[in-house]
Amino acid sequence: MGRKFFVGGNWKCNGTTEQVKKIVSTLNGGEVPSQDVVEVVISPPFVFLPLVKEALRPDFHVAAQNCWVKKGGAFTGEVSAEMLVNLSIPWVIIGHSERRLMLKESNEFVGDKVAYALSQGLKVIACIGETLEQREAGSTVEVVAAQTKAIAAKVSNWADVVLAYEPVWAIGTGKVATPAQAQEVHSELRKWLQANVSPEVAASTRIIYGGSVTAANCKELAAQPDVDGFLVGGASLKSRSSLTLSSLL
Ligand code: PEP
Repeated sequence: MGRKFFVGGNWKCNGTTEQVKKIVSTLNGGEVPSQDVVEVVISPPFVFLPLVKEALRPDFHVAAQNCWVKKGGAFTGEVSAEMLVNLSIPWVIIGHSERRLMLKESNEFVGDKVAYALSQGLKVIACIGETLEQREAGSTVEVVAAQTKAIAAKVSNWADVVLAYEPVWAIGTGKVATPAQAQEVHSELRKWLQANVSPEVAASTRIIYGGSVTAANCKELAAQPDVDGFLVGGASLKSRSSLTLSSLL
């Protein structure tokens, strides 16, 4: 089953209105393969979502970087899935390691968030990945399987989920996983989905890689059979005369 290549740009907590307009204008001017071949999703901070959605070319889509675990209400500082739907934001990133580690989001909490976002009609980029200590202890597969299990326990519509494998030691460090390291974990994740969800879901779910992806290293990673795209942090913020994302494809 063909899996459409997916490129996500995660701007994290960065940008001013002027910078956002500049990056969007660069993206709008770039030549990329048709959306039948590649899905491009840009994830600015919440406050810039309306601006980016309005200004971005129609073949690219937007994602929020998080949303609340249930219906909105007395949760100061949070943004609900309903609000994102109300603004016609189609995607949300959930379980990014920066939130798991700094804000102590547990596997179960991430699973609940994924389930609630899906129930409201959002599509989810669900992030998983091991720390350096866990990799060095030889527990990478066990860790990502436990993270995936907590998500899978609450997901029925896998068609709206992209699984982002992002080893924590590779995020923002310049230390990219080798293509073999990425392929090994992606292949284990696909086997996990096959054994624990279904062969159909395993074959159709996109498993993307994130962690210091750049124009220079993306081609080799993309050539791996189980790497179905990228979630790009730092490199997605670089506004250059040539479109950064186009060179990632
Ligand atoms: C990320 O934050 O999702 C990410 C992959 O960051 P970077 O590309 O900067 O490592």
